[in-house]
This record gives sequence, C-alpha cells and structure tokens, in this order.
Amino acid sequence: MDSTEKNNNPVYSRTDKSKVVLKEDEWKKILSPEVYYIARQKGTERPWTSKFENFKEIGTYYCAVCGNALFKSDTKFDSGCGWPSFYEPITKSSIIYLPDNTHGMVRTEVQCGRCKSHLGHVFEDGPPPTGLRYCINGVVLDFEKAEEAKKKYEKKNLD
Ligand SMILES: [Zn+2]
Repeated sequence: MDSTEKNNNPVYSRTDKSKVVLKEDEWKKILSPEVYYIARQKGTERPWTSKFENFKEIGTYYCAVCGNALFKSDTKFDSGCGWPSFYEPITKSSIIYLPDNTHGMVRTEVQCGRCKSHLGHVFEDGPPPTGLRYCINGVVLDFEKAEEAKKKYEKKNLD
C-alpha cells in the first residue's frame, strides 16, 4: 500500500487506538482490491510473493488496513513456509484469535486487534521462546524502519 492509498483510508492511524468497525461496502471503498481480498474476505496471498518474506530491515510491522502496530522485526524469523513469519506479537492486545475449521483443518486464525482484519494463522511449530509461528499475509502488513520512526520523532520534538 503506498501513501496515496493510505491518504484515502480515513481509518488508518498509527496513534488512534480506538476500535474500527465498518460495513463491508465501506471497507471495499477505502481498501485496494488485494488488501480487501485478504483482510475482509480472509483470502491468502500466494506463497513466496510477499516482499516481506525475505526482508531483514529493523523496524515495526503495522496493520496495512488500520495502522495498528503488530510485530517487531526482531520477532521475525525464517520459517521457510512462504509467508512472513513471527514468533510473538508486539502486545497481547495487538492480535485477536479465532478458531478456524475451514478447509478440513483445525487452525487458529489471527486478526488485527483494532480493525479485525484477517492477517493469517498461528501455528504451534515456531521457535523459542514462544514456540509459535504467526504466519501472516504480507499484503496486510505495512513496515516502518526504526531509523525513519526515530527521525520523525526527533523532527516532531524540534518543531
Ligand atoms: Zn488493523
């Protein structure tokens, strides 16, 4: 998602923590078709297609739909599964968990704690310390480098 799309998305905020509840047709208006498909229709991007799959920058991953902070880069690991994988969310409330028994599998779906967008699934075959693997669609992730965040913060304090 580029910045123009974000500007067209009135719910995107990295600071507003209030829950986002919109009707499906409202989501459709403000999200790009690929984000809408994953986030609101519980789609899955093709494996190995995310730019974040082999991405090693230091920073924070946000929900691309609403800007909620989801994961820190130091909890990302190479799972080899074809999707960006993390072993721990940034805070307990950044993610919500729902049972998913579709496609003949018993899985746990993970959604954004702020806007309830579908992110992916969590599996119990991850590395220590949690033993969990949050398998996330890169399409619904938004990344900010730690240095950029720091620069913005310093600039704000100078203004
Ligand atoms: Zn969200």
